[in-house]
Amino acid sequence: MEDCIFCGLASGRIECAKVYEDDKAIAFRDINPQAPVHILIVPKKHLVKLHDAKDPLLLGGLMEIASKLAVGEGIAETGYRVVINTGRDAGQSVEHLHVHLLGGRNMKWPPG
Ligand code: AMP
Ligand code: ZN
Repeated sequence: MEDCIFCGLASGRIECAKVYEDDKAIAFRDINPQAPVHILIVPKKHLVKLHDAKDPLLLGGLMEIASKLAVGEGIAETGYRVVINTGRDAGQSVEHLHVHLLGGRNMKWPPG
């Protein structure tokens, strides 16, 4: 989608701090990090909500990328959080499905 920022990042049209890429997904550092490690894992296909992605292989692939990045970033032992904000009540601000990988600090529960 032309006016979607994450489509722009996924296609390389817009620059980002990329940490991973394959044919279906890209991962890059969040521009406004909420933890020492804050990476977004984004499918290249323009999907808006989690329930728009009716593809278990794609969704499982995003989780696998998150877990491998957690190991690579050195936060696997200390712990990390994987978050998908979907829709208004969850605070989704970019209308292109993405998975947050957060770690490197202690986190509270429940989230705000
Ligand atoms: P959400 O609120 O779950 O929709 O998360 C959107 C995230 O995208 C926020 O954490 C933003 O800081 C991040 N973000 C927005 N634009 C960019 C960008 N150009 N590069 C990296 N991260 C971005
Ligand atoms: Zn998009």
